[in-house]
Amino acid sequence: MDDRKLLREKIELVDSLRNKGIVDEKVLKAIRKVPRELFVLDEYRDRTYEDNALPLICSQTISQPYTVAFMTQLLEISPRIKVLEIGTGSGYQSCILAEMDCKVYSIERIPELYHYAKERIQKLGYEVVQKIDDGTTGWREFAPFDRILVTAAAPQSPLPLLSQLAIGGFMVIPIGDKSTQIMKRITRKTTIEFETEEFASFRFVPLIGEQGWTE
Ligand code: SAM
Repeated sequence: MDDRKLLREKIELVDSLRNKGIVDEKVLKAIRKVPRELFVLDEYRDRTYEDNALPLICSQTISQPYTVAFMTQLLEISPRIKVLEIGTGSGYQSCILAEMDCKVYSIERIPELYHYAKERIQKLGYEVVQKIDDGTTGWREFAPFDRILVTAAAPQSPLPLLSQLAIGGFMVIPIGDKSTQIMKRITRKTTIEFETEEFASFRFVPLIGEQGWTE
């Protein structure tokens, strides 16, 4: 597929995201800027700007553009805030956050995906601090985080992640069973008080780890 066709399809995708309720222009600008074609597998290049999740290596997925846009909009990003992402996957969401000028920390449990993402993030010149680990226990060394984004399906809110949220900060996380989850935004009001808002339902690959699902 030639680059002009990809560009046309990207513009159409951004218009369709706007029609679906993505109104944060900073999010739409980042989606226009980050080349999703670099993150999808070669055999899906033609489908880069369809609004669908696509298969990645290791039986994982790159999330649907609407899902990425929806979660990023919920994060209410402002420049230079610290964001922890659990589930680096392809690295696409990390680059969207880096493009929005966040300080991004991202954890992936599968080494092959860590390397897949790292190669692409470096190629685009973004700065993302990455590690291979079980993200359900967070990243104490860099806590507290202004925002935490979990991009895999959790059975409940991992307590270590709640404890690593800055006061006034919030976590966006899909919670439910393995087939469907409700997107939640959990705000840390005080050291011990949290407030939860619920949004639409989504379908993610499972969050596997100490505070997630067993493999
Ligand atoms: N954000 C990704 C992107 O932009 O491509 C999509 C993430 S994919 C839907 C979910 C990812 O979460 C998978 O790569 C999976 O290996 C990872 N994952 C699952 N459990 C995890 C855990 N406990 N810690 C870190 N990563 C985890």
